Amino acid sequence: MRDIGAVKIPLDLVLAEPGTRVLGVLSGSALVDRWEEGRVEGGLAVELTFTRDKNKVRVRGSISGVAGFTCSRCLEPFSGQLEIAVDRIFSQGADPALAAREWRMDDDVVHVEAGLLEVGPLVVEEVILAAPMVPLCREGCLGLCPACGADRNRGGCDCSGGEKETPFASLGVLLGRGPEGR
Ligand SMILES: [Zn+2]
Ligand SMILES: [Zn+2]
Repeated sequence: MRDIGAVKIPLDLVLAEPGTRVLGVLSGSALVDRWEEGRVEGGLAVELTFTRDKNKVRVRGSISGVAGFTCSRCLEPFSGQLEIAVDRIFSQGADPALAAREWRMDDDVVHVEAGLLEVGPLVVEEVILAAPMVPLCREGCLGLCPACGADRNRGGCDCSGGEKETPFASLGVLLGRGPEGR
């Protein structure tokens, strides 16, 4: 599969043609330094179709691959499947003098210089938007004990953290208040 990292789509040509299909792989290295919540070791399979939608260009398709994450609760590494559906609209700028060169994505002020859309950065942007901001190894991850740092997913810890601690914690507060009142 070809690397689509450097592929550029001339958006004005899409308006004149039946459509353009981009099929290939984006190397995980394209995401390094851009995507902080995860990493892609192999590559992402990318399939995008650019079609004309009146005077706009619609991009639809999918991005998929395996990504590595670090659980934000227990700090354990885990891998997860990325399945991202892409559906974006590009439209030309309102200024007729710039219309041939300036395109915007959706309602964002994302300019596409000289009408050439770079596929690599678009894919990176889609991954950043779709992937979890707070990755969790599992839905009910118990995280680390705030007192001793033990992984609560692997069983209890010796410092009686969690719910069992509540009565003692209240007692601690009462004892602490005592001397202040005197
Ligand atoms: Zn976890
Ligand atoms: Zn503990």
